[in-house]
Amino acid sequence: MAWACSAGSNSGLIDNLRRAGIFHSERIAQAMKAIDRKDYTSRYPYEDSPQTIGYGATISAPHMHGYALQYLEPYLQPNMKALDIGSGSGYLTACMAEMVGPEGKVIGVEHIKELVDMAERNVAKQRQDLLKSSRVRFVAGDGRLGYPNDGPYDCIHVGAAASKMPQELIDQLKAPGRLFIPVGVASQTIIQIDKQADGTVVKKELMGVMYVPLTDPEKQRSGH
Ligand code: SAH
Repeated sequence: MAWACSAGSNSGLIDNLRRAGIFHSERIAQAMKAIDRKDYTSRYPYEDSPQTIGYGATISAPHMHGYALQYLEPYLQPNMKALDIGSGSGYLTACMAEMVGPEGKVIGVEHIKELVDMAERNVAKQRQDLLKSSRVRFVAGDGRLGYPNDGPYDCIHVGAAASKMPQELIDQLKAPGRLFIPVGVASQTIIQIDKQADGTVVKKELMGVMYVPLTDPEKQRSGH
C-alpha cells in the first residue's frame, strides 16, 4: 500500500503520502518538505521503505514518519516541547522541530553515540539553524528512561519497539500530553497514551508495525 508512495523527489514523496491519506495536515506537509530525507539516508531516500543507517538501526519508512506526525500533531503546536526517543538518523526529530516552530524545542535521545553524531551531521547539512538555536538537541542515553532533565513534554515519540511500556515516559508527559510508542516483541503494536488534563491516562492501540527493538547498546551492536 504505502510502497506506492515512492517518488523521484522529496516533495513528490510527501505529496504522495498525503494523497494516500497517511496524514491530513498542511503543517505536516510543510514540515516534511522543509526537511529533505536525502540528508538522512543516501540510499533510496524517496522510496517509501525503511533504510539501514548502520549499527543495527534503520531510518523508518516515510509513511511511519507521516503517521507519527499525524497522531502527535495536536501536541506539536508552536512553542511546544517534545522528546524523540531512538532518534537514529535525526530525520523525525528535525521534522518535529519544524512543527513546534522557532520557540519550540525537540530533544532526540539515542543510545548509540555514533548515531548521535551522525544525526547532528545530518541536520547540519541544510539546517544548521535548528542546532544553533537549540531547537533541536541530540543527547546520548538510554531512552527507556526518557530525559527527565528537560521534562515534562507535550509529546514523546518512540522510534524503537519497547518490550514493555516504560512508566518513566508516561511520568514525563505533561497533562495533557501524548506518547506514541511501539510495544511488543514478536508482534508489535503502536500504542497511543494520552495523559489527560486531569492526569488520567487513556490507552489506545493504533496499528501493527515492525520496528527495531528498544534495547541495550551491546545487544543492538551484536545483532541479538
Ligand atoms: N526515528 C529513527 C528511528 C531509528 S531506528 C529514524 O527514523 O531514523 C530506532 C533507533 O532506536 C535506533 O537508532 C537505535 O539505536 C535506537 N535505540 C534502540 N534502543 C534504544 C534505547 N534503549 N535508548 C535510546 N535509543 C535506542
